[in-house]
Amino acid sequence: MKGTHILRAFRRLCPGLRRCCRLCGADSAHATLCAGCRSDLPYNRRACPLCAEPLESLGVCPGCLRAPPVFQRCLAPLLYQAPVDTLIHDLKFRGQLAMAPLLAEYLLEALQQRCQALPQCLVPVPLHPRRLARRGFNQALEICRPLGKALRIPILSRCYRRLPGPPQASLPAARRGRNVSRAFQPLRSPDYRHIAIVDDVLTTGSTANALAAALYADGARYVEVWVPARAPSPTHPPRPPRAKASASRRSSA
Ligand SMILES: [Zn+2]
Ligand SMILES: [Zn+2]
Repeated sequence: MKGTHILRAFRRLCPGLRRCCRLCGADSAHATLCAGCRSDLPYNRRACPLCAEPLESLGVCPGCLRAPPVFQRCLAPLLYQAPVDTLIHDLKFRGQLAMAPLLAEYLLEALQQRCQALPQCLVPVPLHPRRLARRGFNQALEICRPLGKALRIPILSRCYRRLPGPPQASLPAARRGRNVSRAFQPLRSPDYRHIAIVDDVLTTGSTANALAAALYADGARYVEVWVPARAPSPTHPPRPPRAKASASRRSSA
């Protein structure tokens, strides 16, 4: 097992040496993930059509029945659980930009399965300028790029400015709504009616709600949200582990 870890680390450090899976280190025809790891990902197959909260049965989730989101619906093909959280962390905090097209691919797959009009433009959730300067890139924009290219939809990345405030992840859920209520300052009107907000993960939905509210105030008529992954609410039962298949693949890697 220890040898496998060393091999994984070595292959990660030398990605050009041979093609290997980012998760298990096995040889992969795909540059990013092997077929086994792809099929093992936690898909968000049955979800609330409004907020993409994973559900046991079809229908709108209790949270949306009590208070529907500002945006019309959310598309989130994966769950923000292991190993999807690792892929998103690799993109966001380790600067592995190759993760962005991989995550976008799952959104494209999900879009192919639905019969709805595509939005007229994509709006990546803006980062605060200071955070953008520190990180060097906006992960939401990186996920947008391959989507815009594949779908031939313009990306509007300079419509809003993110105003200063503590990072959402550092706040308890109850305070997130307040933190983003005045989070976005309009710079120029998007001039489109049907818009998709793009981000890396949807947690409470408060950031997406705040941006959707700004877009509606600017004349949008239909705002949806596209994220590769949905973080289930804390009350949602965790997905049962599928450790066996992964473990056997890892040991053969
Ligand atoms: Zn793999
Ligand atoms: Zn819902």
